[in-house]
Amino acid sequence: MTTPPVSCDGLLAKISAYLDGDLNAATCEQIEQHAQTCPDCARVIADFRATTGICRQAADAPLPDAVRAKAQARVRELLVRGPLVR
Ligand SMILES: [Zn+2]
Repeated sequence: MTTPPVSCDGLLAKISAYLDGDLNAATCEQIEQHAQTCPDCARVIADFRATTGICRQAADAPLPDAVRAKAQARVRELLVRGPLVR
């Protein structure tokens, strides 16, 4: 690990920013690293990663509005609800 660990809440906030179209390479890397060690967040990410890829294709292929809206709603729900249910 070369970067400090990111909490699940912190990661969800980053994902929310990503869905708003505000994602840089460093943030992207944090998201991917966290997802590799956190099945809960990986599951959240998998929903829209399957559609476009969370990082690699983000700049070239913006999420369809419907997918983005759905994913944003889910991420914000998780942020409001607190820690992910295990
Ligand atoms: Zn997590």
